[in-house]
Amino acid sequence: MPHGSNFLLGQLAAATLAGIAPHLSVIDLATADVLAEPHQRIQRVYFPHSGIISSIVELSDGSTIETGMIGNDGVFGASQALDDKVSLNLVTVQIAGKASVMTSDRLRAFASELPDFKALLIKYEQFFLSQVQQTAACNAVHDIDARTCKWLSRMHDLVGPDLLLTQEFFARMMGVRRTSVTTVAGALQDAGLISYTRGRLHIVDINQIRKRACECDDAVRSNYQRMFPLVEADAKDRCV
Ligand SMILES: [Zn+2]
Repeated sequence: MPHGSNFLLGQLAAATLAGIAPHLSVIDLATADVLAEPHQRIQRVYFPHSGIISSIVELSDGSTIETGMIGNDGVFGASQALDDKVSLNLVTVQIAGKASVMTSDRLRAFASELPDFKALLIKYEQFFLSQVQQTAACNAVHDIDARTCKWLSRMHDLVGPDLLLTQEFFARMMGVRRTSVTTVAGALQDAGLISYTRGRLHIVDINQIRKRACECDDAVRSNYQRMFPLVEADAKDRCV
């Protein structure tokens, strides 16, 4: 069943997933698709199978910074749908992929009927909040080299070693100038840890990238593992 490609949906009992599956559709997520504007009511909830969705804060001077990533380990829009609330941030597709999608109204109805489904969604929201809090601390304290490696490590966890992204996009996610990204990416390339050609970034040595990453890399991964031990085990099996 394709919906099980999302680890959260994959954690549901087979009967539960079979019950909600007719109300899920699989769609393509294209890079730079906007899934929500700030203060916009959430109409659809996305369970990615692949690719990465980013939550981004925009400042009045035009600068931006990413505060959280959602891949096949999570869901976007569920907590807002449960409370019939708006998105607080800009939410876009950072890396193209596929997702199972359900309307917010339908998700809210299922959550009231299926306590296990609702508990899973709330648990993920708790993880996502912890990721955002860790990112806030990281952006305030850790240097750009360590932050870049943390960012690459998280992306590697979600989509693997090959990333289609421009340095401009990279800079917008990191909240830094493009020249800073060029310098950091150049150093990582010179060290043989990544290769970068025309918007295609390949992570050559993920172990060294993780050694250079700040503690936030392990913190986010550990938080997820504590909250979703089965999901994490599945992910490790998939990566070997
Ligand atoms: Zn950090």
